[in-house]
Amino acid sequence: MDISTSNMIPLHQTGSRKRLDHQQESICIFGTGDFGRSLGMRLLKSGYPVVFGSRNPQKSALLPSGSQVFTHAEALKKAKIIFLAIHRENYDFLSALSSLLDGKVLVDVSNNLRMNQYPESNAQYLSQLVPKAIVVKGFNTVSAWALQSGSLDANKQVFVCGDDHNSKQQVMDVARSLGLTPLDQGSLLAAQEVENYPLLLFPMWRLPFIITASLTVFFFLYCVVIKVIHPYVKKNTNNSYLLMHSIPNTIFPIVSLLLLGLVYLPGVIAAFLQLYRGTKYKRFPDWLDKWMLCRKQLGLVAFAYGFLHVLYSLIIPLRYSSYWRRARYVATLVKSNSTSELKMVWTWRSDALYASGILGFSVFLLLAITSLPSVSNTMNWREFRFVQSKLGHVTLLLCTLHTALLGWNKFLFLSRYKWGLPPGYILSMVIPCIVLVLKLILITPCIDRMVTRIRQGWERKGKDSDSLNI
Ligand code: NAP
Repeated sequence: MDISTSNMIPLHQTGSRKRLDHQQESICIFGTGDFGRSLGMRLLKSGYPVVFGSRNPQKSALLPSGSQVFTHAEALKKAKIIFLAIHRENYDFLSALSSLLDGKVLVDVSNNLRMNQYPESNAQYLSQLVPKAIVVKGFNTVSAWALQSGSLDANKQVFVCGDDHNSKQQVMDVARSLGLTPLDQGSLLAAQEVENYPLLLFPMWRLPFIITASLTVFFFLYCVVIKVIHPYVKKNTNNSYLLMHSIPNTIFPIVSLLLLGLVYLPGVIAAFLQLYRGTKYKRFPDWLDKWMLCRKQLGLVAFAYGFLHVLYSLIIPLRYSSYWRRARYVATLVKSNSTSELKMVWTWRSDALYASGILGFSVFLLLAITSLPSVSNTMNWREFRFVQSKLGHVTLLLCTLHTALLGWNKFLFLSRYKWGLPPGYILSMVIPCIVLVLKLILITPCIDRMVTRIRQGWERKGKDSDSLNI
């Protein structure tokens, strides 16, 4: 078989080959505003001749040197690809240029002020306005500032969609030439979604933020009632100073452990759901899908709270109240001329408490590090699962153990239930214990085998027809 050398160009080089082919092709930009000028400058730097189309070619100022400016009608004759750096509200003038735009690629970069502001996307509106032109949506997620300053690291992705494959490819090639990463989003129907992207505000963080904020506020009030209001009402003791250190240092580990439990709870719920349904080919309920999608964010917030707990705990010996209590204890021993004996159970308990805490936090740190894209990209799927799932459950176990050792037998004493409220540490262990128990059930050999088979595609046919056949 004769394989010519031209057929042997590696895939990753095809972009740069195309770039060379396109180097002499002019690109036209309608609009000499912020975006138009920044894009023009970037295109010129990448070797593209740039022509601007403007309402006032004579008055246009601050244009990048090397570019040319004409009226819209003259400018569009000089290029096949035209970027519309104009707001949608000003598209009307394009219908007069309809015949000249026949067969030209019109790139709609526009954004709106609100999500789904118009019934149809800006790109679809444009394609109705100038039906003879080929409309491609793209570049709307890149800011003028990023184009101008060259700091494209944060938003290198360019989402492109359009009905004409070749035109879309041409626009994607231009994006590649600018050092951007084009992502094909499909037909022009996807334009509305693409236009909504820049309006999203931390979409994956919303749910974790709401959960964290709610838990933080709840446990803050809970601790204030137990630690400040109760002693004041019952014994007239002023414990308000606890608001600064002790209460935050109670909230942080409680919320951290609960969030960590919430990271692993959807996974076990999903496994039980698959077991119950006998298939993996049925969609999970929406709430479970959403929950699973934000596990990483939940885990990172849990880690941040755990980290705060570590910092707050490290400074405990420096606190005046701790120092004062120790001094008073020693003074009491001196006064009574007695020595306290080393209690073996307490020694074991405190050592186990700190050991589980340190180990739990260290593995937690490992989880957080491996969730960074730069690290996770270097791992294969099995390695990633091992760290995030297996080590994740070990972290949950160690942190729950740490909490249990801290609480010890306090739950046995009624005096600890202020106004009938259980100590916070008990509440923090509820979800993690549920997760650990369910996980324990899932890893028993017969259940584990069943889940694995279902996840490999095996399906239970029906109640009567087929048994599990393991
Ligand atoms: P801009 O600074 O206001 O520039 C808009 C340009 O449109 C004007 O300079 C003007 O150019 C032209 N124009 C204004 N009224 C017009 C009319 N009635 N008829 C024809 N042309 C008219 O806006 P921009 O920030 O560059 O944004 C332009 C487009 O890019 C918008 O759709 C925006 O959503 C999108 N975008 C902007 C950014 C950004 O960071 N700025 C990022 C992504 C997408 P002439 O005077 O030369 O005609």
